[in-house]
Amino acid sequence: MLWQELTGDEFPESVRQTHGVCLVPLSCIERHGHHLPTGTDMFIGRELCRRAAALEPAIVFPDVIYTQILEARHVPGTIALDADVIMRLLDNICREIARNGLKKIVLVSAHGGNHHFVRYFAQTQLASTRDYVVYVADPIFTPETEAELAPLWETEVDGHAGEQETSQILAIRPDLVQLDRAPAAGEGLPLDRLKALNEAGLYTGIWWYGDHPTHYRGDGRPATAEKGHRLLDAQAQALARAVRLIKQDQTTSQLQQEFFQASERPAPL
Ligand SMILES: [Zn+2]
Repeated sequence: MLWQELTGDEFPESVRQTHGVCLVPLSCIERHGHHLPTGTDMFIGRELCRRAAALEPAIVFPDVIYTQILEARHVPGTIALDADVIMRLLDNICREIARNGLKKIVLVSAHGGNHHFVRYFAQTQLASTRDYVVYVADPIFTPETEAELAPLWETEVDGHAGEQETSQILAIRPDLVQLDRAPAAGEGLPLDRLKALNEAGLYTGIWWYGDHPTHYRGDGRPATAEKGHRLLDAQAQALARAVRLIKQDQTTSQLQQEFFQASERPAPL
């Protein structure tokens, strides 16, 4: 069920029915090659949470599109808010979710550039006492699902506006895909301009620009709506499995409470 479609009267009963689990679709607005809309991750995050909640009831929060996307500031259409603003915004959103009775908050990021951000955000949950748990969900496929999906893909390099994301948008909003604008070859391959440094274990924030300055990794041309539905369904099943585990999980909350109490007065162990 979608948060914004519930009435105020229905809300408490929905919290009870979902065991207080809220899925938060995180995405961003950024360039996705020549052929996909800037809202690609928003459409995918929303759809993934919607399909997962249909399999295992959870309340889906409205799209959170203001996340980490500083690496796309050089191309038109990006909305890249300041680092301190997105941290405070997500913290405020989580407090609002918990205030409405949902104590198990699941961050589902449809944007690869949020990998470190969401994990660091989860770590900051230990800074002060709270009565809710923030989970970061990365839907993991079973080996059987991996084997079912593998033969679908015709391209070896993928990751941004490539075969998979293009297929997902063909499944969700085909009217927004301009496949004839996807470049014939080359542009979606990494430029490897920082390869030697990366191989020596060196990381810099400019790494993505170093490889993919046009925000295109892969080849969108072999994409189909059918592949997109298969991928989205598999991801939704994996996320629904995670939600089932989260509903049963009492340990994380107990450990947090124990930790918060101990943190008030640190004592030798
Ligand atoms: Zn994307």
